[in-house]
Amino acid sequence: MRFLEDHHVQAQNLFEALPCGAALIDDHGVIGDLNQHLADIAGYPRGDLVGLDVRVLMPPRQRDAHFAQWMDCVDQWRTAEESLGEDLNILQRDGHEIPAEFAFSRLTLDDRPWIVMEVRDKKVAHAVPGAVPSTGGHAHHSQTELAASLADSERRFRLAFEGSMAPMVFSDRDGRFLAVNGAFCRMSGRSKDELMGSDSKHFTYPDDIGISEAAYDLIQSGQVDEYRYGKRFLHKNGRIVVAEVSICAARDQDGEAAYFVSSVRDVTEERALAAQLSFQALHDPLTGLANRALFDDRLVQARSRAVRDEHLGAVLLLDLDDFKGVNDSYGHLVGDQLLIEIAGRFRQVTRSTDTLSRFGGDEFLYLAEGLATRAEAELIAHRLLQTLEEPFTFDQVTLQQRASVGIVVWNDDSMNNVELVQNADAAMYEAKRQGHGHVTMFTPQIGHEAVSRFALVQELRQALTSGEVVMHYQPIVDIASSNVVGFEALMRWHHPTRGWIPPDVFIPLAEQSELILELGSFALKQALTAASTWEVTDAAAGVPCVTVNLSARQFHDPGLVTLLEVELERSGVQPERLILEVTESVALVDIAETMNIMEELNRLRIGIALDDFGTGYSSLSYLAALNPRIIKIDQSFVRPKHDKNRSDTLLEAIVTLGNKLNMTVLAEGIETSAQLDRLHHLDCELGQGFLWSPAVPVAEATEMLLTLLGD
Ligand code: C2E
Ligand code: CA
Ligand code: CA
Repeated sequence: MRFLEDHHVQAQNLFEALPCGAALIDDHGVIGDLNQHLADIAGYPRGDLVGLDVRVLMPPRQRDAHFAQWMDCVDQWRTAEESLGEDLNILQRDGHEIPAEFAFSRLTLDDRPWIVMEVRDKKVAHAVPGAVPSTGGHAHHSQTELAASLADSERRFRLAFEGSMAPMVFSDRDGRFLAVNGAFCRMSGRSKDELMGSDSKHFTYPDDIGISEAAYDLIQSGQVDEYRYGKRFLHKNGRIVVAEVSICAARDQDGEAAYFVSSVRDVTEERALAAQLSFQALHDPLTGLANRALFDDRLVQARSRAVRDEHLGAVLLLDLDDFKGVNDSYGHLVGDQLLIEIAGRFRQVTRSTDTLSRFGGDEFLYLAEGLATRAEAELIAHRLLQTLEEPFTFDQVTLQQRASVGIVVWNDDSMNNVELVQNADAAMYEAKRQGHGHVTMFTPQIGHEAVSRFALVQELRQALTSGEVVMHYQPIVDIASSNVVGFEALMRWHHPTRGWIPPDVFIPLAEQSELILELGSFALKQALTAASTWEVTDAAAGVPCVTVNLSARQFHDPGLVTLLEVELERSGVQPERLILEVTESVALVDIAETMNIMEELNRLRIGIALDDFGTGYSSLSYLAALNPRIIKIDQSFVRPKHDKNRSDTLLEAIVTLGNKLNMTVLAEGIETSAQLDRLHHLDCELGQGFLWSPAVPVAEATEMLLTLLGD
């Protein structure tokens, strides 16, 4: 009966197969179910007893004693069997009393507590041999009436056993199978004949041999009544079956385990799925590296370990330099391939105690533990970077990829996960500022800068929508005629508390994120809207053009051409009047791609001005290929700080070169008439500078146009 103390399927089957009367009784004393034996003992049709108070089975004079014991069992939820004494009788339906032996135990079924009441008719109790199933050919047959009903219950039991979806076996003390059901045969891939009389060793996964035997020993020794364990079987076809086994014993009169009942659950697929799900939940699908969640978990553990062990820990944030360029130029497939290769190389130098994870995009996080010095963290960084020195080759493409690394080291638990990663990020930003392939260690100074930078970027986002960002326009003047031939659109941010923030400060910040694209399209829209109002003024000088600065991100943004088309259409500005200013470094990132973009812009009839000319490294052949409409000579040549003579020579060379290549030369930053005269003398066509005007709001620019025209 003890093996009923579980809500397994076999509980119900075995309940019926019990060689004694049994009932399930709820905590109010109401009979919920009973087996045929009990109905027979009590002389009731079975169904009549369901729903009745159990006390109908007790002679009135004994009810109180019965019930006291009963309540005792309910209150204490005793699990041990309780014999209630010999002088208790069963009151049969016809009024007869028969002496009986009672035992109570508890059982939870469907999350409800039940009392299992076992009743043995004392006159026949010892004639019952126990519910050994006859499936294996071990049935006892007796000539008594009871034997007939026992045979009947065995038959019912066999049906339930055979029909069960759960693989089940009965086995003897040595683990040999006495009975196996069809589900077990299917699970093991073996026939009943192959299994009967043998044990499970020959189809147990080698590492798991001994697990079942240990369970048998535990139960046989009486330490536990029921035991569950996991083990792996080998299906006849070689497949490993991961199983959960629940085993219990049927005990004989002396309490010895007579045989064992095991019910098995095949959890192979469940486990595989669970393993896959937990792997997926914790790993990056592309590279198979740990993901952010797993990294976070490891970092929490590492922090507490570092405090205990008095070691240093470090977080390294690795960011690939100009990775976006790879995606844009070679496509995402190559980009993904590159990330996988890089992950592989990093993994090779990852120490077993450390965790390497992909942080998303082109960023990797490396968690280092057990460091003695800060320098060790830098050493790890350089080892990681070294793996990138060898170029990557895919099909036709050979790529050189570099990365920048920010490091934060800790020796106490004063920074949480988020702060550590943020600080590594701030150090990485600093590393990028120093140029590609740098390693930078976080310092409090870097932290302060990051905080104010972060605050500024947040504010800039707001500023765009709240109208704090505006475009101003600086006139571009024809040096020979003094006519205004156009305006350069320059961005201005009027911060409510800090006043005017120069674009040199906020544009590089915005370039760190997609925000630059928003700023860029804002500039373009505003500039074209302004230019559309200039168009109506008719002048000998022609309709003024507008130049708009493009940052690298914008220039390489796949949405650029569409944006230009849409905005030209919307504003109605002739495309020839729009000129995009790009610096040499922007155009130099990827020459092949730049040429493609230039072709598109030519198609749209939009011009290019090469900004800050002379400060970059473009070769002459490149300049010719790029063929910009305008070259803007950098202010440093117009207003030289040192070595005036050399600058003068360069200025002259650039103007001559531009004129020879049929490009319009524009000199920036003209502040004095002396500078103007010299440029005029050199035959420089256009000029821009404070001599005429700084950048001014659109209304003033339009006004300027009218008054100049009025001259
Ligand atoms: P830039 O494109 O070289 O712009 C010329 C800068 O020189 C402007 O500074 C302008 O105000 C200044 N400048 C013009 N004439 C003179 C002069 O005679 N003397 C002196 N000392 N300076 C003069 P600003 O407006 O501060 O812009 C700085 C830089 O910010 C720009 O350099 C450009 O690279 C960037 N920028 C400005 N607006 C935008 C924009 O809308 N988009 C992008 N991507 N960048 C922008
Ligand atoms: Ca410019
Ligand atoms: Ca410039």
